[in-house]
Amino acid sequence: MDKTFERSLNDMNRIYKLDDEEMKVVEDSDKAAEELSAYEYEHYLKHEFNKEAPGILAKYGLLGIPIRKEYGGLEMNPIVSALVKERLGQLGLGISSFINVQMFLCAQTIQRWGTEEQKNWHLSKAVKAEKVYAFGLTEPEAGSDPASMQTTYDVKGSGYVLNGTKYLISNGTIADYLIIFAHSKSSQKEITAFIVDAKSQGINRTELHEKIGLFTSDTGMIELDNVEVPKESALGPVGKGINIAYSALLNARLGVASSCIGVIEGSLKASIERSKSRIQHGKEIGKHQLIQQHISAIKQNLEMAKWPVYFAAFRKAEYEHNYDNKELMEEIELRVSLAKRIASRLAFESADRAVQIHGGFGYSLISPVGQLFCDSRVARIYEGTDEIQDLKIAESILGKDFSAYR
Ligand SMILES: Cc1cc2nc3c(=O)[nH]c(=O)nc-3n(C[C@H](O)[C@H](O)[C@H](O)COP(=O)(O)OP(=O)(O)OC[C@H]3O[C@@H](n4cnc5c(N)ncnc54)[C@H](O)[C@@H]3O)c2cc1C
Repeated sequence: MDKTFERSLNDMNRIYKLDDEEMKVVEDSDKAAEELSAYEYEHYLKHEFNKEAPGILAKYGLLGIPIRKEYGGLEMNPIVSALVKERLGQLGLGISSFINVQMFLCAQTIQRWGTEEQKNWHLSKAVKAEKVYAFGLTEPEAGSDPASMQTTYDVKGSGYVLNGTKYLISNGTIADYLIIFAHSKSSQKEITAFIVDAKSQGINRTELHEKIGLFTSDTGMIELDNVEVPKESALGPVGKGINIAYSALLNARLGVASSCIGVIEGSLKASIERSKSRIQHGKEIGKHQLIQQHISAIKQNLEMAKWPVYFAAFRKAEYEHNYDNKELMEEIELRVSLAKRIASRLAFESADRAVQIHGGFGYSLISPVGQLFCDSRVARIYEGTDEIQDLKIAESILGKDFSAYR
């Protein structure tokens, strides 16, 4: 097993003893990471989706961690998800983004809000990667404020018709099914989620290549022009779509935070190796004190990021059996925002220090840290920006009367 990850696992086992079944899943994530590593590197250099990732993840069951066994999942708690995301985060955030969308934003959301028919149809396919899913909330003019979305739905015959544009959608051009959020033609406030077959007439998808990282993740724009969907495609209560979106984002936000720990571990691992092998001024660069300062800072970042994420995962494990407990929900929202805010900032800072330790070689995608640097920047933007997390954290301290963004 990867030594850096093993140390984390030992830390975790001191406060939460993983049982044999949980341990096997975590060990499988290590095997999956080993198997995926060469593919990820190859596709990253070519700036293309890592097409081997879904199959390898599915082989180990890693797309079904929170999904109940009756639907083909592993039915495990957020602590296991966090550890799996941490291990895979060492490979950058492309694979992590795929898992986030497929498992947290889509499958887990269908599990929580879907009808029995929707769950039976979609979940086992999502877990096995037989079908790929995307989550369409953001639009060109609605990002941090998704409630201002312009995509509409209207009743047509016995179903609905959708019109609008979704922007920056992960898995957007490769997905078989899209969860699309739209407001009713008559009211901006009546937002509803729909599970839409991506092959439906009126859907046009374009890949967005011009990113500054995350090259192995597919990102797309989805235009919906009079797309007709059946009544049964509504996901959860009609008009309650924004609650569904926020519940999905809460799961994915913790996923981002967990994979950021992996970015810090990857940065530390590569930096240790480079510090011991690169010689300048007659000695290994790791013997220069200023390089040691970077190593020390990355290690500190790892410790500072890890514990808020693990604690949020512990508390979320309890919440997943108590969705109706409002007080607990507010606590989890805070814990998850803290975890993501702290871990994503420290991941980016750690990758930056790792690039510095690698010098000119670090400033390239063929080094092990160039990708971590490019990928980690997005963690401060997607699933809720730094600023939105700050506002959520401040609101939980100052009280709702001081809410600055709702
Ligand atoms: C690679 C990638 C993949 C993505 N995948 C998906 C996906 O699968 N599905 C999906 O729906 N979306 C996805 N997104 C979109 C992502 O969630 C949004 O980019 C994010 O929510 C921010 O929205 P925005 O880009 O429109 O920025 P804006 O909302 O325009 O924000 C711009 C700046 O203003 C700040 N700001 C906004 N409002 C406030 C406020 N009230 N107070 C203070 N500051 C504020 C923001 O924090 C930010 O710094 C993805 C984005 C990227 C880059």
